[in-house]
Amino acid sequence: MELFFSFSGLVNALSSTILGLIVYFKNKKSVVNQSFAMFCFAIALWSYPYIAWPLAETAESTLLWFQLLHIGAIFIPVFYLFFLGAWLGIYKRIRKMIYFALAFSLFFLFSIFTPYFITEVVPKFSLKFWAEPGIIYHFYILYFFIFSIYSFYLLYDALKSAKGAKKAQIKLSLIGVILNFIGGSTNFFLWYDINLPPFGNILASSYVLFTAYAIIRYRFMDIRFALRNTSVYALSILSLSVLVFVLHFVLNRIIFFNEHLNDLLLLIFVAFSFPFLRSNFQKLSNKYVFSSLYDSREIVSKINKDMAGMLDAGGIFIYLYNIFSNALSIGSIAVLIKNPERGDYAVNYKKSDSGDFLFFNNINIKKVKISNAFEDKFFRKVAPIFIEEAKDLENLELLSDFNMFSDLGVEIVLPLKVKSRLIGMIVFGRKSTGHSFNNEDFNLLNLAGKQVAVYIENALLYEEIKSFNKKLGSEVKEATKKYIQANKKLKKIDLIKNNFITIASHKFRTPLSIIKGYSSLILEDNSEKLDSELRANVECIQKANKRLIVLVEELISISVADSGMFRFDFEPGNIMDVVSELYEEFITEARKKGLIFKLSMPKKISEIDMDKNKMKKAIFNLIDNAVKYTKTGSIAIDLFEKEDKVVFKIADSGIGIDEKEKNNLFDKFFRGKRVGVFNTEGIGLGLYFTKKVLTAHHGRIYAHSKGVDAGSDFIFEIPIK
Ligand code: ADP
Repeated sequence: MELFFSFSGLVNALSSTILGLIVYFKNKKSVVNQSFAMFCFAIALWSYPYIAWPLAETAESTLLWFQLLHIGAIFIPVFYLFFLGAWLGIYKRIRKMIYFALAFSLFFLFSIFTPYFITEVVPKFSLKFWAEPGIIYHFYILYFFIFSIYSFYLLYDALKSAKGAKKAQIKLSLIGVILNFIGGSTNFFLWYDINLPPFGNILASSYVLFTAYAIIRYRFMDIRFALRNTSVYALSILSLSVLVFVLHFVLNRIIFFNEHLNDLLLLIFVAFSFPFLRSNFQKLSNKYVFSSLYDSREIVSKINKDMAGMLDAGGIFIYLYNIFSNALSIGSIAVLIKNPERGDYAVNYKKSDSGDFLFFNNINIKKVKISNAFEDKFFRKVAPIFIEEAKDLENLELLSDFNMFSDLGVEIVLPLKVKSRLIGMIVFGRKSTGHSFNNEDFNLLNLAGKQVAVYIENALLYEEIKSFNKKLGSEVKEATKKYIQANKKLKKIDLIKNNFITIASHKFRTPLSIIKGYSSLILEDNSEKLDSELRANVECIQKANKRLIVLVEELISISVADSGMFRFDFEPGNIMDVVSELYEEFITEARKKGLIFKLSMPKKISEIDMDKNKMKKAIFNLIDNAVKYTKTGSIAIDLFEKEDKVVFKIADSGIGIDEKEKNNLFDKFFRGKRVGVFNTEGIGLGLYFTKKVLTAHHGRIYAHSKGVDAGSDFIFEIPIK
């Protein structure tokens, strides 16, 4: 029986020492981890002497062990309160109680070795020795009960408002601590001569066990993996010890080998079986305790394969929802995209299996704002943030951000970052299975996060371009519509004008030819009736009439050209003939003005398809202009062939062309500002007609001038074929 009590002490001592160390070393800086470790060490400090008292032979030594074990025992409530304060975030609220507990325990500490705490040890019932309480001991028991009940109350209070994983953890803690309390309190009966030995003492480590379980299921304090490895080692060593013990027994007692040989055999056995045991325990623990239903790597490669061709953000979000909700069994997922100007996050997509996800006070959340401090701390890299867990390790500064997430039902936040640009985040609600997130989940989000961020960014950019294109398209459409309307209007005006010109000129034609006819008749009359003065007057009329006829003809030919009825009779011909004829026509006029008038052309030029009459009129206009707009100097005509083209160039030293007028030379009715002095009769149709003719011959025409009074060059080219 004593052995069992001793064993219960051993179990409690070892389990609390191991757990305390793991928790402490997992995160030395966290107050939660520190206080939990202290609580574990207080249990250990109580449990180590507990191993010894049942084995003690004398009353003195039993008393000593009893006194020693109380050193740890009196600090258990203090450290537990301290841990609760840190873990539940209620340290400020319960600070006074902690100080109270500390003051009491210090008082008890100093009384432990006095007879007021334990008066003596005496044989009791079936036990060799047990202690008799001193006066202070009664207070100690009272203190122990009061603070234990206070702790239950605090846990219960926290349980009511807790959510998700934290709620489950608190629940486990509460069960553990109640069992611990019930088990531990079986130590008190014998003090008051009630025959109930401390059988329940072994339950004292139940708190440790429940915490360990909470860690496994709910990533409590993030030590799952350290715990797995430790427990695998511990189990391997334990089973190996049992095996070695049995083997030792068998070898020495039954088979009677040489003693040294036996030891050697055992050593070899240990060396070979340890790795085997370890790997098998590892497999077993993976399978039954730390199991996951999926392989994160497999899913990540599937994501990469499937998403490579996806460009549409909506499709990507739905795909991600499906893949994550299947693997992690999360029903609530939302994608939030950061607005770079405002800095807030807008919910772009969300799907929830429970109505309260991303809903807060019945308001459907569309935008979320996060403090810069939180972004700086947690959004530096693409790695999942487990809200409850991270909250425990954080200071108060970021508490409002954490609470915001908790209130929205968010358990995990996965920042989406491409290079150093934060584009948004995916938030996940709790698991529909009620389980907590495990290592595989962490791996999945960690591995997938970066890729997913890139795909989402691409999709967003694509969306932006698409909407920009759409906007641009509608703007272009609108502008085109306006342009078409304006064009229609202009065409209509142009048509009215053309009609007017056509009608007017045709109407002019008949009276003009009548005038022409009669004035000729008068002049042909050689009788004396016509005196010389009258003859001169009629000649004037005839001359003016001729000019008018030319003008009207010009107008008619232009309106024909514009009406689309401009017909060309193309036939092969030599442009040299046309140019030389015109040159001859203008020689007299040019010489009269005192101009040097030159024509240079090769002996032979290829024939082109042309309408000879229209071509003649076109070139006529160019030479006519040169003669008209040149007062002194020279006019040089060049005709040559160049790269399958016939080139005509006429260079004069005349009035030149104003830079501002250069672009309008070939427009209908365009006349330069300064030309009135030189040519009063022109109406600005010559170059317009010439260009029309050349265009019909697939040619092009352009003008050069160094400016006003610097002369002009007019050049046209017609392809030979
Ligand atoms: P018009 O000679 O009846 O004015 P054109 O269509 O022949 O009409 O010419 C249009 C305008 O081009 C002229 O008014 C003039 O300003 C300019 N232009 C044409 N030829 C020359 C030239 N050789 N030198 C300077 N300006 C010219």
